[in-house]
Amino acid sequence: MPHPFDLTGRVALVTGANTGIGQTLAVALAAAGASLALVGRSAMDETRALLQGPGRVHEIRADLSTNAPLQAVVAETLATLGGLDILVNNAGIIRRADSVDYTEADWDAVLDTNLKSLFFLSQAAGRHMIAQGSGKIINIASLLSFQGGIRIPAYTAAKSGVAGVTRLLACEWAAKGVNVNAIAPGYIETNNTEALRQDEQRRTEILTRIPAGRWGKPADLGGAAVFLAAPASDYVNGVVLPVDGGWLAR
Ligand code: NDP
Repeated sequence: MPHPFDLTGRVALVTGANTGIGQTLAVALAAAGASLALVGRSAMDETRALLQGPGRVHEIRADLSTNAPLQAVVAETLATLGGLDILVNNAGIIRRADSVDYTEADWDAVLDTNLKSLFFLSQAAGRHMIAQGSGKIINIASLLSFQGGIRIPAYTAAKSGVAGVTRLLACEWAAKGVNVNAIAPGYIETNNTEALRQDEQRRTEILTRIPAGRWGKPADLGGAAVFLAAPASDYVNGVVLPVDGGWLAR
C-alpha cells in the first residue's frame, strides 16, 4: 500500500515559489516526491538549489497581477511535466494604509494578485483535474480570512474571498474528485511581514498573543501542504486550516 503522504509521480504547480512560504511549500512537495512547476515573476534559482526529491522541475515566468495567460501556464505545465495534480495558489501581496486613504490602485493590485488570479488559475487547472477525475487545490488564505484587521482593507477582502472561493469550489468539485482546501498561516517570518517585525512594539504585541510563544516560520506550513496535496486528505473538502501557533484558538 502506498504511503498516504507519498507524492511520487504527481505534478504540483506552485505560484510565488521563489521566496517565503511558496518556496518552502515547493521544497516540502518535492521532498514528498512531486515534480514541480514553479510559477512567478522572479527567477527561481534559490528555490531550485533547495529542492531535493525524485521529481522534475520546470520554471514558468508569469505576472499574476495582470491578465496573465493562466490557461497557457497550465498548458505549459502539462506539456513539460506531463500532468497536473496539485495546484498551490500562494502568490500574494499586501498594501497597508488607513481605509480613509486607501487608493483604488492598491485595491485593484491586491484583489487581482491575491484573489482574481487564484480563481482563474483554479478554473484553468480545475478543468484539467475534472477531466482526469482527480486533483488537489491548496489556496493560501490568512488569519484575515476569519478576522478583521486594520490598515489592510484590500488584503482582508481578498483573504475573506479566498476562504469563500475555497468553500465554493470545494462544493462544486468534490464529487468530481477534486479537493479544494486552504491553509491559513498565522504570523510567519517572510518579506510579507517584514514591516510588522521591524516595528518593535507591534512585533512584541503580536508575539504575546501567540499561544505557541513564537512567530511561525515558512517550514511550519510544509506538513499541512503535503497533507492537503496527498491521498491522506482525499475526504477533506473546503477546509480553511489555520497553522497559526494557536492564534485563532485564543
Ligand atoms: P512573500 O512576499 O515572501 O512572497 C510572496 C510571493 O508572491 C513571492 O513569490 C512573490 O513574487 C509572489 N507574487 C507577488 N505578486 C506576484 C505577481 N503579481 N505575480 C506572480 N507572483 C507574485 O510573502 P509570503 O511568503 O509571506 O506570502 C505567501 C502567501 O502567504 C501570500 O498569499 C500571503 O498573503 C500569505 N500569507 C502570509 C502570511 C505571513 O505571515 N507571512 C500570513 C498569512 C498569509 P516576487 O518575489 O516576484 O514578488
